[in-house]
Amino acid sequence: MMKVYISVDIEGITGTTYWKECEQGNLQYEQPVLQMTKEALAAVQGALDAGADEILLRDAHNSAANIDMSVFPEQVRIIRGWSGDPYGMVERIDSTFDAVFFVGYHSPAGGDGNPLSHTMSTKPYHITINGVETSEFIMFSYAAASVGVPTTFLSGDEKLCEMGKDIHPGLHTVGVKKGFGGTTENLSPERSLKLIREQAAASLRQDLPAAKIKLPKHFDVKIVFRSHLDAYRKQFYPGMTMEDPHTLRFNTDVYYEVLRMLEFVIL
Ligand SMILES: [Zn+2]
Repeated sequence: MMKVYISVDIEGITGTTYWKECEQGNLQYEQPVLQMTKEALAAVQGALDAGADEILLRDAHNSAANIDMSVFPEQVRIIRGWSGDPYGMVERIDSTFDAVFFVGYHSPAGGDGNPLSHTMSTKPYHITINGVETSEFIMFSYAAASVGVPTTFLSGDEKLCEMGKDIHPGLHTVGVKKGFGGTTENLSPERSLKLIREQAAASLRQDLPAAKIKLPKHFDVKIVFRSHLDAYRKQFYPGMTMEDPHTLRFNTDVYYEVLRMLEFVIL
């Protein structure tokens, strides 16, 4: 019995380059959201090829009501919307899952790997945990690790994929695009789908327990806000210290406290 969790964002999907392409209600959103659905489906197909029995798919962008549910086979359940649970983009993951995939993920705030680089919102200029640049991928692959689930597959911009491999030894990646300033250089959408399906499957055909990572024993989180107004307001979160008018710092041994703090402070 193999269970796989798949979390899907849009800024690391093949093609997306402008914010308008990622926002519901725009004409320019229609093609990217179709590709988002197709890349999610390719990851699902890869998991099924490798013998997955159950898949929990998390629409994890903006309204979290982007993906067209009608294309998915019956082994898939789909989470839509936001509850406020700090597990956020991997909400309701638990130790019964064998692996987690991240599809369509993007470079972090302060990074140059994608014109749409950010971490959770555009409020942070950048965030580090123990000195490591913190992407949404790091935040939530650590969340999965905290309940004992290995991260085996990542697709998104190439720079994020490179950063991901430094953290997760068993990670299979598909870099669907490279960012150069305001431009993206993309694979053909068909090529992305083929590679995602292949690599997602290959990522499950490994010693999965060996792909688990050990989380750090302590978390030293530094958040630099673009606006000193945000930093001032958020310094009142319990346990927070202010380093300078743009910079807050938070220390804990418990990863859940990092997730909870970020949920309240950077959104
Ligand atoms: Zn997003």
